[in-house]
Amino acid sequence: MKNNDTKLLDLFVKDNIISLDEAREIVEMVDKGGDIKNILEGKEVLDSEKMVEYRAKVAGMLYQNLIDKKIDNEILEIIPPKVAENYNIICFEQEGNIIKVGMVDPYNSKAVEAVNFLSQSKKVTPEYYLISEESFNNFFKQYRSLKDEVSSALDVDEEGSDDDLKGMSLAGDDELRSIQTGDDDMNAAPVAKIVSVIIRHAVEGKASDIHIEPLEQETRVRYRIDGVLKTSLTLPKRIHSSIVGRIKVLARLKIDETRIPQDGRIRLIVDKKKIDFRVSVMPLRGSEKIVMRILDLGKGIPTLEDLGYEHRALNIIEENIKKTYGLLLVTGPTGSGKSTTLASILSLLNKDQVNISTLEDPIEYNIKGVNQSQVKPVIGYTFSSGLRSLLRQDPDILMVGEIRDTETAELCIHAGLTGHFVISTLHTNNTIDAVPRLLDMKVEPYLLGSTLNTIIAQRLVRKICPKCIKKVKIPENFLERIEKELKDISDKILKERIETFTNKEGIKSLSFYVGEGCAHCGGTGYKGRTAIVEIIDVTNEIKQKIIDKDKFLEVKDVKDDQEFISMKQDGIIKAMQGKTSIEEVLRVIEN
Ligand SMILES: [Zn+2]
Repeated sequence: MKNNDTKLLDLFVKDNIISLDEAREIVEMVDKGGDIKNILEGKEVLDSEKMVEYRAKVAGMLYQNLIDKKIDNEILEIIPPKVAENYNIICFEQEGNIIKVGMVDPYNSKAVEAVNFLSQSKKVTPEYYLISEESFNNFFKQYRSLKDEVSSALDVDEEGSDDDLKGMSLAGDDELRSIQTGDDDMNAAPVAKIVSVIIRHAVEGKASDIHIEPLEQETRVRYRIDGVLKTSLTLPKRIHSSIVGRIKVLARLKIDETRIPQDGRIRLIVDKKKIDFRVSVMPLRGSEKIVMRILDLGKGIPTLEDLGYEHRALNIIEENIKKTYGLLLVTGPTGSGKSTTLASILSLLNKDQVNISTLEDPIEYNIKGVNQSQVKPVIGYTFSSGLRSLLRQDPDILMVGEIRDTETAELCIHAGLTGHFVISTLHTNNTIDAVPRLLDMKVEPYLLGSTLNTIIAQRLVRKICPKCIKKVKIPENFLERIEKELKDISDKILKERIETFTNKEGIKSLSFYVGEGCAHCGGTGYKGRTAIVEIIDVTNEIKQKIIDKDKFLEVKDVKDDQEFISMKQDGIIKAMQGKTSIEEVLRVIEN
């Protein structure tokens, strides 16, 4: 057993973190060839940061926790990325001519040599701190910017394969299209590397889409993250067609076809995760634009609570899906998270005793035990033709990706009437509009009234970053508006949902929240998204109103029947809960 390890165990015993017996046991395990780090981790002696703090004590070093720290790029770049990567060191602060350097391995003399050398040339004095691997990785990510990686790929030209591509390879088992491109090819040309880097950064940044578009002078790469498009990179225009070509090869599209739109798919393993990319190529002004939708099939299906469903909305869904027939609709524009909500509802319904079949475009989640099918309109396999076939497959529950046309609408209603529980989506702005939309599709009011069971509408708002959230007073000019918006919700419900709520007179003493921006959220103040929701429980009274009134259903009708909360009201409540900001709610609702 190494001297330093003995010291560490001594310290633990002294500080009552482990007993003497436990220490002896650990020594025995190490002597038998065990790795002390693994053993301590296995026994969960201390959390990882505390452990690093103790290792620093043993090594006679200072310790620093950088997990929540912000570091300016200027400071970070005092040590070049290659050096940081090779030696696991990072510069995190400068005070006058002293630079503070965090290192992961306290006994790495090569690292110290490298820093000393750098310090001499920059005329600064280094001070060393032990940091955790997590601290290091946190900032190393910041370093490894998309721009740098791509420009180094552009510089490399012929040098070829590079280590940081090893995490990415093409998937072998592929029921879609297997791509017979070897790793070598993947790594060979700089364009191939650029495409890989663009894809990897998109996946790491949890983007949902990648846009690669030709502008006048350059090629622009944008990522959609948490619903917002952001330019991530501009590339020289001269490589645009090579990038398009590369992606077409991966997606098995026709390279020489540049006049008509093409769609394809790529399946890749990125950071050990199997990810599908739905590729769409569109001819534009003598060039082509590519949009890649990222479908992470391995990601778990969130629960309705995870998605932001709470209180009444959750209760209505849980009650209504117990019914064995009828139609549940999720409405909202593209990108409002409808398919995720459907997947969450399906996983609630997913039991051994029922046969669930789906028709989707595209399949976004793998749901175990559910018969999922991808429609292919090009070969005549549409929602409506698929639905006809599915009904012959003895289903209990049907999920239809979207009701877009009269035929699909009629088939869904018919299935819902004849002992199937059907869930689907509809492209309308709110719950109320779903009824006239379906009637416009020539569905009979009495059939619709009898079948409809639940109507949901939702939007996605960005969640405030938990690391930099701050309370703010409700601005004066908002107050009147907020009071008006919440007027028709009972105090009882507001009290149940907002912890600090007492009564409506007290609204001015409540708070909103903002994210100040930090390293964790890339300075945006937001991290992840949550749904704001409205829901109509289609009770017998409402069914009757749909049938009677022929065409219209009004908020008032629903209000008379149930405690209806609109999406905007739900958003304001969530802003008061600190889940999102009021600006975000208004941005999403009023657009
Ligand atoms: Zn933050």
